[in-house]
Amino acid sequence: MLIDARQLENNTQIEGDICIIGAGAAGISIALELEHTFKKIILLEGGGMEYDDRIQELYNGKITGHPYYPMKASRLHYFGGSTGHWGGMCSTFDDIDFEKRDWVENSGWPIKREDIAKYYPKATSILDLGPCEWNLDYWLKQDPDFKPLPLDEKVIWTKMWQFSPPTRFGKKYKDAIVNSKTIQLHIYANVVDLDATESINSITQVTVKNYAGKQHTVKAKNFILACSAMQNARVLLACNKQAPKGLGNDNDLVGRYFMEHAEIKTGELWLNHTDKLKLYLMEQFTKVRAELAISPEKQRELQVLNGSISLMPLELSNKTIPSVKLWSNDDPRKSLDTFKKYSTLDKRNFIQRFFSKSIYQSYGLFTRVEQLPHPESRVVLSNEKDELGIPRANLFWALSPIDKKTVFTINKLLGQQIGAAGIGRVKLKEFLLDGDVQLPDYTSGGWHHLGTTRMSDDPKHGVVDANCKIHGIDNLYVAGSSCYTTGGAVNPTLTVVAISLRLANHIKEKMAIV
Ligand SMILES: Cc1cc2nc3c(=O)[nH]c(=O)nc-3n(C[C@H](O)[C@H](O)[C@H](O)COP(=O)(O)OP(=O)(O)OC[C@H]3O[C@@H](n4cnc5c(N)ncnc54)[C@H](O)[C@@H]3O)c2cc1C
Repeated sequence: MLIDARQLENNTQIEGDICIIGAGAAGISIALELEHTFKKIILLEGGGMEYDDRIQELYNGKITGHPYYPMKASRLHYFGGSTGHWGGMCSTFDDIDFEKRDWVENSGWPIKREDIAKYYPKATSILDLGPCEWNLDYWLKQDPDFKPLPLDEKVIWTKMWQFSPPTRFGKKYKDAIVNSKTIQLHIYANVVDLDATESINSITQVTVKNYAGKQHTVKAKNFILACSAMQNARVLLACNKQAPKGLGNDNDLVGRYFMEHAEIKTGELWLNHTDKLKLYLMEQFTKVRAELAISPEKQRELQVLNGSISLMPLELSNKTIPSVKLWSNDDPRKSLDTFKKYSTLDKRNFIQRFFSKSIYQSYGLFTRVEQLPHPESRVVLSNEKDELGIPRANLFWALSPIDKKTVFTINKLLGQQIGAAGIGRVKLKEFLLDGDVQLPDYTSGGWHHLGTTRMSDDPKHGVVDANCKIHGIDNLYVAGSSCYTTGGAVNPTLTVVAISLRLANHIKEKMAIV
């Protein structure tokens, strides 16, 4: 059922078994997973069914620290969330991403890869990917033109990626949600406050508001915050009338450890002979592609983070501009237009033009690494308020020297491997050799917001526990990538959906309805 909260009588009291706040990839996945479990699921969406600039404006805030995309434009605030213009690139986390790594401060999840991996098959299907197969050998059998570079996999290994169409949750799952007998979707229902019991160990109700001047309350047994990492932190910090530092923030962790993926062009690969490297390239209809990733053994030995390199024909790579320079308009639609014009996204004209030859001798290297979880990299509340009276969120994004060391190390290892295999040479960009310990200002993020309510068994080190429940509050959960303890080196959404399905199944077990 679809309800427009602007049309309800003021101060309507809504009640359900469970209340999910935010209808993006995480919130919609959870609602559909719970559809046949509960009689009444309340799904609250702050925006409408389509883009609305007045709602989008609620995301506005200031960027300090490392340059980043405008706050207003780095997420979408309507039904379907940021999948309204995500790119669809997906891959899985590695075992090492979950480990406590002595050389990576603040690393170590309280769960293992297999705890999430159980949910990859279903997440793969929700995102309309191909088979849930991530093994190189499987894909080599699917296409005789897929040929891996002859590198030592104990140094650099070939990691598989898949591309979602990309699935727009707001379109694909609209009918399933709206026609559901158990899901009650409320749009224009921006959550502005959460009330707790006197001892703040349980949530009793949430308050929603909209610009029609209406305010309503929602009661439920369990609440799930699924507003994405920046807004999850903002909502919790702004709920400070009972807990002065904000809900779940007794240990001053909410909003901290904001992470992204550092993404940058790093060099050139010159082969001795032309080669189409089909396994590694993204063309117009590519659904599967590989990247060159640093092995866990080398991460341990050289004390660096996880990361990988993708390839594109050098003549195309030379024309691409760092995303942080292109995605600079406050209006996400305008930023997307500019981005499409200059990037590899506009598949119809741009890629076709540059892939006309389809066989090349030189390739550009583009590196993506996880970043060190850094407590000063954080979302904080601003003194300014939005139209609904809630303090805006500001972002201070901080990178660390190990991030640059990782970028350099992966590219150096690739160069050594290419040389040792006798197939060509790698030329590194000057910034990798300039002695500066920080990555340059034009290093971009991937629009991946991670880590502001990080997971840990210890409330002194994390906001949520292994079940994504906020420490100390028995019925408040957080969904999605804000729970990531470390970011892995892959785009987050496949794991966002998987971790959300895991949370939904935990809720079923908790309520003993499996
Ligand atoms: C340009 C771009 C490209 C991307 N490309 C990729 C990619 O190639 N691969 C990849 O893996 N990821 C990519 N991403 C990231 C991907 O979009 C996110 O990982 C994913 O959307 C996260 O899902 P989510 O549900 O946590 O958040 P969102 O999808 O942002 O959904 C959050 C929802 O909560 C709602 N909400 C927010 N605040 C409130 C409130 N107070 N009350 C009620 N509702 C609220 C929002 O309106 C929204 O519907 C990209 C993102 C962008 C912006």
